[in-house]
Amino acid sequence: MDLSSVAVTKLKGVGPKLADKLKRLKITSLQDVLFHLPSRYQDRTRIVGIGDLVPGLEVMTTGVVVSCEVLFRRRRSLLCVIADRESNQLSLRFFHFNQQQQQRLRVGTRVRCFGEVRRGPQQLEMVHPEFQTVSSASDSSDAPENALTPVYPVTEGLHQLSMRKITQAALEYLKSFDVEELLPESVNQGVSLKQALMTVHRPGADVDIDALLQGNHAAVQRLVLEELVAHRLSVQQIRNAIKQQGAPLINIEGDLCQQLVSALPFELTNAQLRVIEELKSDLEGGMPMLRLVQGDVGSGKTLVAAAAAAMVVDAGYQVAVMAPTEILAEQHLVSFSGWFEPLGLKIGWLKGKLGAKQKRDALESIALGHTKIAVGTHALFQQDVSFNKLGLTIVDEQHRFGVHQRLSLREKGVELDVVPHQLTMTATPIPRTLAMTSYADLDYSVIDELPPGRQAITTVAIPNARRIEVIERVAEAIKQGKQVYWVCTLIEESEALQANAAEDTLIELQECLPDARVSLVHGRMHATDKERAMMQFKNHESDLLVATTVIEVGVDVPNASLIIIENAERLGLSQLHQLRGRVGRGSVQSSCVLLFEPGLSQRARDRISTLRETNDGFLIAERDLELRGAGEVLGTRQTGSAQFRIADLMRDKKLLPAVKTITDDITANHPDRVMPLIMRWLGEESPEYGNV
Ligand code: ADP
Ligand code: MG
Repeated sequence: MDLSSVAVTKLKGVGPKLADKLKRLKITSLQDVLFHLPSRYQDRTRIVGIGDLVPGLEVMTTGVVVSCEVLFRRRRSLLCVIADRESNQLSLRFFHFNQQQQQRLRVGTRVRCFGEVRRGPQQLEMVHPEFQTVSSASDSSDAPENALTPVYPVTEGLHQLSMRKITQAALEYLKSFDVEELLPESVNQGVSLKQALMTVHRPGADVDIDALLQGNHAAVQRLVLEELVAHRLSVQQIRNAIKQQGAPLINIEGDLCQQLVSALPFELTNAQLRVIEELKSDLEGGMPMLRLVQGDVGSGKTLVAAAAAAMVVDAGYQVAVMAPTEILAEQHLVSFSGWFEPLGLKIGWLKGKLGAKQKRDALESIALGHTKIAVGTHALFQQDVSFNKLGLTIVDEQHRFGVHQRLSLREKGVELDVVPHQLTMTATPIPRTLAMTSYADLDYSVIDELPPGRQAITTVAIPNARRIEVIERVAEAIKQGKQVYWVCTLIEESEALQANAAEDTLIELQECLPDARVSLVHGRMHATDKERAMMQFKNHESDLLVATTVIEVGVDVPNASLIIIENAERLGLSQLHQLRGRVGRGSVQSSCVLLFEPGLSQRARDRISTLRETNDGFLIAERDLELRGAGEVLGTRQTGSAQFRIADLMRDKKLLPAVKTITDDITANHPDRVMPLIMRWLGEESPEYGNV
């Protein structure tokens, strides 16, 4: 029975409406449901005493209500405090609540609640926990569940509970049918695929919970192995298909690149020169270039890309430069215009929201080949864009784009029977071993040197109790005409809470700094409002930018020389490094203040001291890998990239040699299994849809 040909609507309770929603998750067949794996688990099997709670854990606990009151601070909220027999306390905080909930939390009531523990202003707290009242500490009528609860990736309008029902129905179906084993028989020892799926979707009461949560359970490892094999196969297919095609022949005869470099007010670094040479030999090589350039924040990647663009334009081809956000794209527009316009080249500009006429003109100029270099956002690879003679695509911060999107830009050159060269750039330092796997379709260059004269960013860690001093420091910097970032962070999945935190901070800072011009950026704002706030800050129409981690990537405001990062203890090293990289981009001495809550874990302390000791992104990435064990956050997969359903490259590194052997075996001995494996795990992301 081929489960990939059974439609989801065959499942009990799945009608056309639900099927539509599932489609958004790329689920159309029964097989898709079975391979829609839990992203994590919640553990409601054990009750953790209030005294044993640790921030970051998502757990069930119990206690008796000792106070419950409505607060009217910045926002109306309900604050309920529960305590255990030893008087350990936990706050339960609700921003949305009704009278009935308030009444259920009367003083003296015993409650059992489930939620994420975090540090609150006074003590540990849970925000919006699930809770129920119970009659005694040992109430067994309402015992916690006897198995882990799966948590699935969902989409708007599709709830966890329905997802659980759907997967349950699919598992029932699986009882009477088999799912096809595609790995070579020699590998399928131990757990069968069917058993692995059953266990991962519905871990029984007897399952080794810790092994499952940490991902080293045999069932998990069975699926991980297959997923990694599927990815490798897919990447090989893409690469082979592309490398077999023709590439634009770049005979570099003109001297545009030379002119560009000579006009610069500074010398290129040796690392930049080396990478430019690597790009040059790719371009001249006759096969499509597929290269990832990795360089720490501020290492000057844009210029290296511009040099490649110059060579390609010289050879009579067009270049597309794409960035994931409008802010970044606009930044490139400014840089490229600054470099190329003096040399007589006008840069084309394409973004989602252009006026009709502007857009028509831009498209026409690209189609006729008048625009040699076009800069833009995703808009560049929409259907209506057709290039006259595209020779090179440059994609910045590529991890923000899906494989699929990368491919669709490659297609743009296909009219010419050649595949454009492709250069991707990322600032996220990826340790080499991992880069080999997750970007195995790409060759790899590193700019491992910063331009001279860059002042190292001074990093200090200050407890939140001394927040006032930090605000004074902000005031001082603004008085000196400098600009400041204030980054609010929360680990909640909810963007709403993140946004709330940023809004609260904005109000607080406005009160403390009445003379400062302040802007706000968070993920919940409209794209246009976000852009406006960012542009204000970029143009120095505001002094202080309060933001969530949305500003993590690539924003370049050289006049900003101070960044405050709240709750720094909650962020990973690489993320902190990226955030810190927003400053130190000019010649002024810049500083980064890490605000933290007291009671740091050893890991958090290690992270903060690593950041204080070094500004080297590569060193930091290696440290990050060492420090980041599995299960830093209970049951949450710490994937470096979101592209895997169950694999975690860091955790599952040890499988990589086996993945290579199995992949080679399948390619050589079972070529008919290649596509089914790819389709099973990558679905529409697979190269078949990329038309390469
Ligand atoms: P990133 O690698 O983070 O994208 P950018 O390309 O934005 O870095 O470069 C950061 C800044 O450094 C830019 O203002 C750029 O003009 C400048 N820059 C690039 N290369 C050099 C160099 N060799 N010497 C001095 N400044 C440079
Ligand atoms: Mg950049």
